[in-house]
Order: sequence, then C-alpha cells, then structure tokens
Amino acid sequence: MERLQKVIAHAGIASRRKAEEYILAGRVKVNGQVANELGVKVSAKDLIEVDDVPIYQEEPVHYLFYKPRGVISAVSDDKGRKVVTDYFPHVAERIYPVGRLDYDTSGLLLLTNNGNFAQRLTHPKHQVDKRYVAKLKGVANQKNLYPLTKGMKIEGHKLAPARYEIISVDAKAETSVVALTIHEGRNHQVKNMFQAVGLPVQKLKREGYGELTLGNLRPGEYRKLSRHEVSQLL
Ligand code: URA
Repeated sequence: MERLQKVIAHAGIASRRKAEEYILAGRVKVNGQVANELGVKVSAKDLIEVDDVPIYQEEPVHYLFYKPRGVISAVSDDKGRKVVTDYFPHVAERIYPVGRLDYDTSGLLLLTNNGNFAQRLTHPKHQVDKRYVAKLKGVANQKNLYPLTKGMKIEGHKLAPARYEIISVDAKAETSVVALTIHEGRNHQVKNMFQAVGLPVQKLKREGYGELTLGNLRPGEYRKLSRHEVSQLL
C-alpha cells in the first residue's frame, strides 16, 4: 500500500505537493469515492481518478476490440447487461473503453488502462477519422445526403462536414448502406445525422478508427495495439 499523493506523483500527473492540493480540493477519487483527506493508502488494484480521469499504476496496455451489438461500452452495468470488459476475462489490467459505441452499435472500440491516451483521444480537439457503415431505411442519393457534407446543426451544435460513400441501395426494399466518416464523437451522432436527412439508421457498425480497421477480427474478439499503432493515434 502506498500513500495516494505518492501514487499520483509517480503516475506523472503532478508533484507530490500538487497532488496533496488536488486531494484536499476534492479532485481525486479512489474507486469512485472522493478522497479529500491526506493519509489515504491505495494499492495497484485501486482505481484512482484525478478530475475524473483515471490514472494508471500498471503498465499501459491498449486493445482493439470488435464490440458485438447488445453490449454496453462500460466496465459495469447496474442492470446486469453484458459489458465490453466481460470479453477480457484474462486481462489483469483495469481497462476501460475509450469513448463509447451505443448498445446496439457494433464495431471497433479501443480499450486501455492508460488515462492519458484515453483523454487525448476523446478530447474534442483530437481529430481522428472514424468510419461508420450504416444500414438506412430509405433510398440514399447525393441529394438527400448532401447536408451531411456541409456541417449540419443538430441539437444546437454545429457539426464538422462529414464524408460519405454510398455502398449499395436496394430500391425495392427501400434500404441503403452508406459509409460515413466523421472525426467528432457526440452522443448518437451518426444516427442523428442520418435521421436529420430522413434516413433513419437500422444498423450501425464502426469499421475504422484513424488508420485502424477491424481486420480479421470477429465480433467479441480483440487484439493488442502495437507501440507504433498507439503512437500513430496520438
Ligand atoms: N454514432 C452513433 O449514433 N452511435 C454510435 O454508437 C457511434 C456513433
């Protein structure tokens, strides 16, 4: 067991003195509880957060996961539903998802125990392209998809212009498959964008994240990112 301020200092977040200030200011949580007094001791298994950003005491690890549909992008669920970390029973590190995919969305999700990595990737300034493939209700064409490329306003937010590619259209069934590339990550963003042009999403999958793709993975499978892949993302 180590003193909390020492562990924070070792993680490179702040000097020991500054770490004490953060603790007293109530900015530090241990296993979800604010620890605002000095003298708290923690072990490597405790989850420590500074300003709600987890710090890692373990070797940093980074995984690329093919999230199946019907799984929550979280480490636990109070309704007992399946969560992404259920697929990592043999990974001892305290990993968690970088951002989220909706419960009914499948595809590429990164998991890590590296707070710095997760924070950088989810920061609005960090512009990594994310490629989604959506099955839509309706017949997509250049005209009805055009607003996606212009920076739409949704729920008061001006979105960046997106790129699309029509993959197939089934005029009889009135469905389409369209790939959409965005670099933002607002809640339900892709569904909201297609909904706004009158093409509701029936199925959604994330196929790409920066240079990364799902490759040969099948739903529920994962692989480790190489050091090179990690540095490419940052
Ligand atoms: N956009 C969505 O609407 N859902 C996701 O899961 C990801 C992006």
